[in-house]
Amino acid sequence: MEQVIFTERANQIVRKDGAVDFTIACNRDSLAGAVSQRACVFCGSRVVLYPIADALHLVHGPIGCAAYTWDIRGALSSGPELHRLSFSTDLKEKDVIFGGEKKLYQALTELIARHKPSAAFVYSTCIVGIIGDDLNAVAKRVEAEQGIPVIPVASEGFKGNKREGYHAACKALSKLVGRGDVSAVSPLSVNILGDFNLAGEIWIIKDYYQRMGVEVVATLTGDGRVADIEKAHGAALNVVQCSGATQDLAVMMQETYGTPFIRASYFGIEDMSQALYDVAKFFAEKDPGIMDRAKALVRDELSMLYPKLQEYKKDLKGKKAAVYVGGAFKAFSLVKSFRHLGMDVVVVGSQTGTEEDYKELAAITDEGTIIVDDANPLELSAFIKEKDVDIFVGGVKERPIAFKLGVGFCDHNHERKEALEGFAGMLNFAREVHATVMSPVWRFTPRRSGKAASAATSCTSPERPCDCAEVK
Ligand code: SF4
Repeated sequence: MEQVIFTERANQIVRKDGAVDFTIACNRDSLAGAVSQRACVFCGSRVVLYPIADALHLVHGPIGCAAYTWDIRGALSSGPELHRLSFSTDLKEKDVIFGGEKKLYQALTELIARHKPSAAFVYSTCIVGIIGDDLNAVAKRVEAEQGIPVIPVASEGFKGNKREGYHAACKALSKLVGRGDVSAVSPLSVNILGDFNLAGEIWIIKDYYQRMGVEVVATLTGDGRVADIEKAHGAALNVVQCSGATQDLAVMMQETYGTPFIRASYFGIEDMSQALYDVAKFFAEKDPGIMDRAKALVRDELSMLYPKLQEYKKDLKGKKAAVYVGGAFKAFSLVKSFRHLGMDVVVVGSQTGTEEDYKELAAITDEGTIIVDDANPLELSAFIKEKDVDIFVGGVKERPIAFKLGVGFCDHNHERKEALEGFAGMLNFAREVHATVMSPVWRFTPRRSGKAASAATSCTSPERPCDCAEVK
């Protein structure tokens, strides 16, 4: 393999070799000059809070910070779409010298009058941290004048890594929770944390819970509404998916309101089923029939899904995948999902995984798998070439790496337009992987590893047969 790993990063990359004690360095600031795939603190906050659809999101900083994160997730809303606009105070040199508080006050007042939001979030950017504008004072004044929550988000870009941004977002959310009336909330109720309603995924999950007889009080933050978040403390349980992004809020709610939380993943067959069973188990004392309803739901969904997966597996068996995602929870589910398709994950990593996360990854991956924390494009390219993978799963920053190397790509991040959660999402995932891996295009764009493209000569999938036979 080419020499691309910085000495300082060597202990953040581990090749699984059967060692009993798996250790990896992680959860630390990115190495300067290593060109991490991570985003800044502000971006971390923005991606968590942005899907709250009836709130105003005002970026206090230069225009670039707002442009860079404009509509950053494909977070869908069943109602208002104010979140899809990107507002900025557009700080200029004069504001940096004389301060931007006046401009912030004017922008907030004007935008609230024009858009009538249910709340406003005001994000700090790097320059605001440097010039020291008092966001709290401005927010307090506007909140008193306008009668809606105005919440500063302490997300100065330079003050840490993306995880700091998640924490700042959770702190901001905790200021909304607790304001609403919870007298009508069912004792069988949950909040969904860490799901951002990409391609409408939260609607699939909500439907499962409702079929089990569980009320969903608030969705944080996909298809989120300020009024729902204000009464989130009334829910009996928090179900946390993207733990990196929202577990801090669950911990804060446990400390303040005594709301317990469990972790879940809605990707893949095992994890989706387990999430429903765990919620059913939690409410089993209050509702003895809930577990039977959960089992019936899983049985119904699997009886439709399983035979279709077997068809895709015929073509995909033995193919190899690389996975690099933001949060490690998704990586666990992807390793298991690829196994259902007969495929091996040979490279896997995340931007924000913890030691506990990586130990879990090591436990479920095969010998020889490369496990990497906070990777950069050079490392990812080298691993993909070395392992000669058939598909790379990642986000917008990973896509060009795959295509430049002549490798198939599956978007499993912010911009995806296909729902990948739930049982329906597993079928979409299988279909997308099959279409990509089996595409005849790889015959014309040979892999940079120099090995011949390994697409099968013909597809057997009846659902979406490709036309590879025609391009021999
Ligand atoms: S690093 Fe600073 S300047 Fe760059 S986008 Fe983040 S907040 Fe804005």
